Amino acid sequence: MRIETENLSYVYSQSSKALAVHALSGVSLTIEEGDFFGIIGHTGSGKSTFVQHLNGLIKIGKNCGGIKIGEYDLADKKCDFKSLRAKVGMVFQYPEQQLFAETVREDVAFGLRNFNKDISEQEIESRVRESIELVGLNYDRIKNKSPFELSGGQKRRVAIAGVIVTRPEILVLDEPAAGLDPVGKREFLSLLKRLHKSFVRTIILVSHDMNIVSENCTRAAIFSGGKVLSVGTPKEIFSDHEKLKSLGLDVPVTAYLEKALKTVGIDTDSDLTVDGFIDAYLNQCAEVDE
Ligand code: ADP
Ligand code: MG
Repeated sequence: MRIETENLSYVYSQSSKALAVHALSGVSLTIEEGDFFGIIGHTGSGKSTFVQHLNGLIKIGKNCGGIKIGEYDLADKKCDFKSLRAKVGMVFQYPEQQLFAETVREDVAFGLRNFNKDISEQEIESRVRESIELVGLNYDRIKNKSPFELSGGQKRRVAIAGVIVTRPEILVLDEPAAGLDPVGKREFLSLLKRLHKSFVRTIILVSHDMNIVSENCTRAAIFSGGKVLSVGTPKEIFSDHEKLKSLGLDVPVTAYLEKALKTVGIDTDSDLTVDGFIDAYLNQCAEVDE
């Protein structure tokens, strides 16, 4: 399913002029099926407000633009949000805080029961097993444990299993790597990459971390003051260091290195992934040696 937002605006506390906050102002953005799409921007730039529109958690206001996701028209009063939510899974920051059931099995099954009243116990069992194994946990060993006895990393995985259990086509994650140590972050990103390869067609990742975006995303958008400032491949959006700096944003470490090397005459024109950068650098060194 392709996502297309057109001129999307959103105001918090619209009824009060003094308190009104224009969180989004005319956001037009297309996210293609198959994208691993990054959303970056300073705190308060509208990222969370934007992604909460994508499964109808925030409804589109009157004369506030539109969103189409596949066949779903989210501005239409008759839009079937329940079925949309099974197809657009949403993972919030610190998702483990939303765990609540007595067993891992029941926690993961909850979403499925909720979306699908007539589903058989047998089907639930096999779908819960599928999603727990997809997030890299051993189903038989973990199914009867309380979510609260798990480690932090395991909890986060179980929370994600509870979202992918409906087999969504689109998975939206709002700052999902927050609070993880570097190793935890790396493992988490490799989990997302695996899911993107084999299970979820489109991933949308809200992130503060430019290295995560350059390493994983096919395309990304920079939000600022409720608007989309630029959209493109990581290579394209990270090309203007000064602009990013003026927004209080970093660039990926590979982009810094490319810039520094340019000043000494080494031109590495990579895709800004670490492997891509190293390849480009070694190629340049080989040329200099010749
Ligand atoms: P981000 O996720 O990029 O940090 P948000 O979408 O959370 O940005 O916020 C965009 C703007 O809307 C900010 O100015 C923020 O203070 C404001 N905002 C967010 N949530 C609410 C809310 N529930 N009530 C009022 N204002 C809000
Ligand atoms: Mg946010």
